[in-house]
Amino acid sequence: MSKSRYPPITYDADGNGLCRGCQGPIPKNRQTWCSAKCYKKYEPRSVRIFVYKRDEHKCQLCQVDIEWLIAEWWRELREWKKSDDPNKPRSFRDKPRAEFDHIIPYSEEGLTVAENMRTLCQGCHKKRTKEWHKARNNPAKRDARAETARPSNLEYQTAREL
Ligand SMILES: [Zn+2]
Ligand SMILES: [Zn+2]
Repeated sequence: MSKSRYPPITYDADGNGLCRGCQGPIPKNRQTWCSAKCYKKYEPRSVRIFVYKRDEHKCQLCQVDIEWLIAEWWRELREWKKSDDPNKPRSFRDKPRAEFDHIIPYSEEGLTVAENMRTLCQGCHKKRTKEWHKARNNPAKRDARAETARPSNLEYQTAREL
């Protein structure tokens, strides 16, 4: 995932921009965020760190522990180095890593906020993106997709209302 979308800027009745995070008033000495705290909460990199911790570094679809995957990858690499096998296994090309999925997809205005993000392994992320592309042009599948996109541990509604 590379794209991130902050909550949009909103304005009060006098046309003053409101905080991008909490949509509260912004003190005179600041520009788009009311406080460092709000920036920290909504800045995409912090969002990812928070989501990864909240999800206990597990893929939210297949439940694989991504830290475990990475540890296994290193273990296998060390074992291969100790062996006299000259051919490096193909699997060492792709070191496992966590990916972050927009539950309401980015292209459907989904925001990069913790409530709309979840941790996925690379395989599940690929599958999910593929399924989403398939469902996008098929209205019959849209509702089913919305259901599967709603993990029970997330406050889906919050993300939509932000
Ligand atoms: Zn704020
Ligand atoms: Zn997975």
